Amino acid sequence: DEVCHGVGDRSEEESADEMTIFKKIIDKEIPADIVYEDDQCLAFRDVNPQAPVHVLVIPKREIRSLADVVETDRELLGHLLVVASRIAAKLHLHDGYRTVINCGAHGGQTVHHLHIHLLGGRNLDWPPG
Ligand code: C5P
Repeated sequence: DEVCHGVGDRSEEESADEMTIFKKIIDKEIPADIVYEDDQCLAFRDVNPQAPVHVLVIPKREIRSLADVVETDRELLGHLLVVASRIAAKLHLHDGYRTVINCGAHGGQTVHHLHIHLLGGRNLDWPPG
């Protein structure tokens, strides 16, 4: 029940030590269309793309959401944005693109492992829904 997964919330089916689907992708337990990987992060194509280019950039370390970041995460968070920028260039998004971090229930976050959406390849509407 996604509605019950608020920020800092913890449902029975998603306990502290239960893996998210993204952790399984990091561990190569389930396949993904990986476009970039290094020791700190992984980027792969969203399975349900909302634009011609829709890539998710995620830290390998499990951080539940943007609401859970702390000061010592700043270098990692900066790295994720630099990686998103490099991928956008590599995928020829010369006309621009959008990065999005959904956080919590009202933000529409469905996977509780921090991720940056990189969307491009079409004119994106504003404001988002
Ligand atoms: O920001 P939010 O949590 O809603 O985004 C999760 C994203 O993860 C969705 O865009 C969904 O399509 C994607 N996803 C994926 N592969 C999975 C599960 C979810 O790309 N196996």
